Amino acid sequence: MNLINIITTFKTEQDCIAHLEAKRWAKGVVCPYCKSNKIGTHASKDREVARHQCYGCKKTFSVKVGTIFEGTHIELQKWFLLIALMMNAKKSLSACQAARDLGMRRPTVWSMMHRIRKALTQDTDLLCGIVEVDETYTCTKKDDNDDDLPKMRGRGCNKQAIVGMVERNGRVKAKKQDKLNFEALKKLIFSSIDIKNSVLLTDEYRGYTPFKKHLPHYTVNHSIKSMQEMEFTQIL
Ligand SMILES: [Zn+2]
Repeated sequence: MNLINIITTFKTEQDCIAHLEAKRWAKGVVCPYCKSNKIGTHASKDREVARHQCYGCKKTFSVKVGTIFEGTHIELQKWFLLIALMMNAKKSLSACQAARDLGMRRPTVWSMMHRIRKALTQDTDLLCGIVEVDETYTCTKKDDNDDDLPKMRGRGCNKQAIVGMVERNGRVKAKKQDKLNFEALKKLIFSSIDIKNSVLLTDEYRGYTPFKKHLPHYTVNHSIKSMQEMEFTQIL
């Protein structure tokens, strides 16, 4: 990325906002809170960053909500420049160097770089097709060494649950999961699987039952041995 291009293309905060809105909402503004597309313009016209009003959940938001730019007052041009500096750096860029280049405080730049790195390493590649989901348990949660406690297996035991998601003949994802109710599982599965292009395969645990409203969902007896025995490669 060329720094001169960034400076000339994104001269003002409005230029940056217009760019982000065009990239994020090419098909129209969508509420980042409730996903409604019934959106109006918020009356606060004096603000530098345009805010939208959702008619669904009544919340107001700007294009920065739900992105790495949310909740900061740093000009977007500086964000864009920092991203470019990080991308262009042959080796990793130090916060000290970037702070000097941008004329900013090192702690501010450090926290910006932290957000950018986190976003870059986020797993955005969704699983699709037939996806089996089940849990397995590790020995890391408390009480595991307490021999006086009756040993339980499966859901409700003291061990750490890990939810595995396996694409048929394909990729595997596995995430630590403290709660196994529908809301918790929904958050995980919606961020890991392409809901519109997948069939979900689980056991008959009731936490999975409401998924039928969202995508084709089939249940199998709890003997998906392949799920339990497989070695997960991406425990996050
Ligand atoms: Zn909303």
